[in-house]
Amino acid sequence: MSSPGKPSVVVVGGGFAGIGCAKALAEHDDAVTLLDRNNYHQFQPLLYQVATAELATVDIARPLRGIFRRHPTVDVKHLAVTDVDPATRTVTAADGRRTPGHRTGLDNNSVPPDHRRSRRRMRTLAGAGSV
Ligand SMILES: Cc1cc2nc3c(=O)[nH]c(=O)nc-3n(C[C@H](O)[C@H](O)[C@H](O)COP(=O)(O)OP(=O)(O)OC[C@H]3O[C@@H](n4cnc5c(N)ncnc54)[C@H](O)[C@@H]3O)c2cc1C
Repeated sequence: MSSPGKPSVVVVGGGFAGIGCAKALAEHDDAVTLLDRNNYHQFQPLLYQVATAELATVDIARPLRGIFRRHPTVDVKHLAVTDVDPATRTVTAADGRRTPGHRTGLDNNSVPPDHRRSRRRMRTLAGAGSV
């Protein structure tokens, strides 16, 4: 449980940065809501091994809820975020659900606009599996 009166933080994205951020906040008993469009964390450096069939997708994906099993102040939600409104301090998901928080951390990585299609595919489990 988080301490009463402590600020709540919404972290968008359960990549390396989002997980690190949520864990660091949880060490201080801060209430964290971690939102990710996938319910798993993918270990991207091993995507090439999935693409070449050396590893299966399950070998490089870990359920986000499992990662935070020992962090009761972190609430993991499987949501794709479409909007962040700093004025109302609210994050909105594709299904319309709104998550309020005193603060918001964004870790949804970004794909440079000039990324070619083949390289973009190497950023996801589904993409690597289809190469
Ligand atoms: C094929 C490949 C090989 C790599 N090899 C190496 C390496 O050897 N060494 C190295 O240091 N780095 C490597 N990298 C880079 C490294 O993986 C990235 O720098 C790192 O993953 C970035 O971490 P991140 O937390 O910023 O973003 P990510 O790990 O990309 O995490 C972003 C998270 O945000 C979520 N997300 C995105 N948009 C939304 C949304 N709208 N709503 C909700 N959730 C969302 C995603 O599902 C994801 O979980 C590699 C990358 C790739 C693609």
